[in-house]
Amino acid sequence: MERQRQERIALNLASVQQRIAAAAAQAGRDPNSVRLIAVTKYVRVEEIAALCACGCTDLGESRPQSLWEKSQELRAFHRAAEFYEPRWHLIGHLQRNKVERTLPLTHLIHSADSLRLVREIESAASRIGRTIDLLLEVNVSQDASKHGFALQELQEVPPELRTAKNLRVRGFMAMAGLHSDDTQVRREFSRLRELRDCWQHNGYAEAAELSMGMSGDFELAIAEGATMVRIGSALFDGIET
Ligand SMILES: *Cc1c(COP(=O)(O)O)cnc(C)c1O
Repeated sequence: MERQRQERIALNLASVQQRIAAAAAQAGRDPNSVRLIAVTKYVRVEEIAALCACGCTDLGESRPQSLWEKSQELRAFHRAAEFYEPRWHLIGHLQRNKVERTLPLTHLIHSADSLRLVREIESAASRIGRTIDLLLEVNVSQDASKHGFALQELQEVPPELRTAKNLRVRGFMAMAGLHSDDTQVRREFSRLRELRDCWQHNGYAEAAELSMGMSGDFELAIAEGATMVRIGSALFDGIET
């Protein structure tokens, strides 16, 4: 890849990191308490490799199939250059027939959006002998078109989660409503934080993560307590693919 593109990606990354740090400082939070997940769905493996070379190694894909393909392609680059080992995050809907193939490649599933899927992940995890970390996706904006648990469904810890041996709920994920203004967005994110606090209060101390905030609203999400922001377009601004 030509140098110019690499430099552009490095600059975009630095700018996003600065904005994250500023938003955290504004909220009186430690900037290191917010992890950047670079969403790579818009770009090729060349651009992903450029990000990794800058030390940005938490990568997110929304389609399982793209995650399979890109994680494999990146390994070829990985051998050729001195990167850190990337960690892949699945941030979009996971079909049950794709669970078994996705689990071994994934550091964290952000998008566990139904109990049926959770059960499938539990049984696949037990077959492959692993413990899987996941976040429960919550439809905080109540958009009919969005995946995710309704808030009411998670007021109590569902029994299948209490008894699951091969998965760990590490927290929650949400997206703001498509048509929400800033005030509504903050309210939606704060609902996710309240849910997390409630679970932690009820003995789920390890469900600490809040994955919320994208290019257009990550500063609001950090103000409301996000511990992971999923950012794509702001990182690849000015990059044509
Ligand atoms: C695409 C996507 C993102 C990143 O969106 P940008 O607006 O490009 O930063 C974050 N989360 C999910 C679930 C996505 O599908």
